Amino acid sequence: MINVTKTYLPDKEKYNFYVDKIFNSGWLTNNGQLVQLLEKKLSEYLGVKNLILVANGTLALQVSYKLLDLKEDIVTTPFSFVATTSSMVWEGLNPVFSDINPLTFNIDETILENTITEKTSAIVPVHVFGNICNFETIQRIANKFKLKIIYDAAHAFGVKYKDKGIANYGDVVTFSFHSTKIFHTIEGGAIIIKDAALYEKAKLMINFGIPGYDKISELGINCKMNEFQAAMGLCVLDDIEMIINNREKVYKRYLETIKKNEKIRFQKLNHEATQNFSYFPIVFESEEILLKVVANLKMKKVYPRRYFYPSLETLSYIKGKYSTPNSSDISKRILCLPLYESLKEDEQDGIIKILNQTL
Ligand SMILES: *Cc1c(COP(=O)(O)O)cnc(C)c1O
Repeated sequence: MINVTKTYLPDKEKYNFYVDKIFNSGWLTNNGQLVQLLEKKLSEYLGVKNLILVANGTLALQVSYKLLDLKEDIVTTPFSFVATTSSMVWEGLNPVFSDINPLTFNIDETILENTITEKTSAIVPVHVFGNICNFETIQRIANKFKLKIIYDAAHAFGVKYKDKGIANYGDVVTFSFHSTKIFHTIEGGAIIIKDAALYEKAKLMINFGIPGYDKISELGINCKMNEFQAAMGLCVLDDIEMIINNREKVYKRYLETIKKNEKIRFQKLNHEATQNFSYFPIVFESEEILLKVVANLKMKKVYPRRYFYPSLETLSYIKGKYSTPNSSDISKRILCLPLYESLKEDEQDGIIKILNQTL
């Protein structure tokens, strides 16, 4: 069976080394040594300050909304994983969808202003499949309307824009370190906060708002990362270069062979940013063709994923009526092919063969 991704498992001996440390210290959670070490190493790797590890990427978003005291409407993209939107609704906020650029699959910054009203408090764009949004234009719009920006960077781990880590752009940036992502901590996530005072506040918010032994200073929640998660992160981070290099090979092999097929279209990339090769999305001419490809791959036990389907404005719990034709159209025709560091050439050839035969 070949799935869209395969969780990277590091050297078991190395993981055991950290597990022994945890058992020896008896410290399992609450800002333990390994969490502190991983925060330090990740800050270096991502080239950022003010990074906080949390239990998952969805809570990272929820805490960010609370941290920035967002109210009412948030302008966001309908083309993302459901958590970008569901986290807002969960926090009593109202996602307002602005359509995507059909080539980049990111929120279309040229029409973003049309959805902003006096009720809007923030913009939450997503770097879809690791493809970086137009930072400059989005920042200009945020400045003009005095809005906060939270980038959901769940797909953009390790990506650089103009030689700077992408997590340096925006008021707050969130990552997911779920097992399906290129860097993972089993479950996990991170929040990167530009403002130093808000960073201090966020550290309290993720731990019930408790600063010390006999005080509760903030409204908080519990979304701490534990030591076993951090241990996994430390092991995976050691191998991240190999993981990304291998994925690059698989990615380029797909590209070289599939680009000859004129019936398939690819994501238009931001060339001022690096790539992390986290996904290989392709767009078909119709949903009908996509469904045929999916069915034929399934017969060979290959399971690509329809990232992202359905378009989020269609969710049952969304109140407003939105017309986001690009997202609606792309979401029906897009498929992410299996891509992971250990995908073998013959497995990949099998997938490409089925794809070409079906078309
Ligand atoms: C994975 C993902 C999330 C959610 O992260 P979890 O760690 O699974 O909670 C949020 N946004 C996007 C774009 C994602 O891909």
